[in-house]
Amino acid sequence: MSMQPARVEFLTALLRGWHGKCPRCGAGTLFGSFLKMRSHCLACDLALEPYRADDAPAYFTILAVGHIVVPLVLVLERYGDHPPLWFHALLWLPLSVVLALYLLGHIKGTVIALLWAHRIPAPKPSTGSFDSSA
Ligand SMILES: [Zn+2]
Repeated sequence: MSMQPARVEFLTALLRGWHGKCPRCGAGTLFGSFLKMRSHCLACDLALEPYRADDAPAYFTILAVGHIVVPLVLVLERYGDHPPLWFHALLWLPLSVVLALYLLGHIKGTVIALLWAHRIPAPKPSTGSFDSSA
């Protein structure tokens, strides 16, 4: 009898990642602290180290926050009474930071789940030597 884990639906894996859970079992957590990845799932022992999100979560977070905040700024400018710049700074800067901090972990978990679902581990470092003395 094989101990092969059950196949996980793609969207289920992404949702588990969004919630910071292991994409395979949904029980273990992806992060040891705010954005620090665990080396493996504590529940099912899935190796998480090979799945590195790198800069993708930051990119997608900036994209999402920009697409939320900028239209709101434009709506306020268009339909508001042209509030002063200090008002914009006081409103949009904290909102942008809070949104980014909220979304970053969710998006990072989703990217990790996406990489796992498509079995895309980070490439191993090259073992070729670079000879700078030539
Ligand atoms: Zn797991």
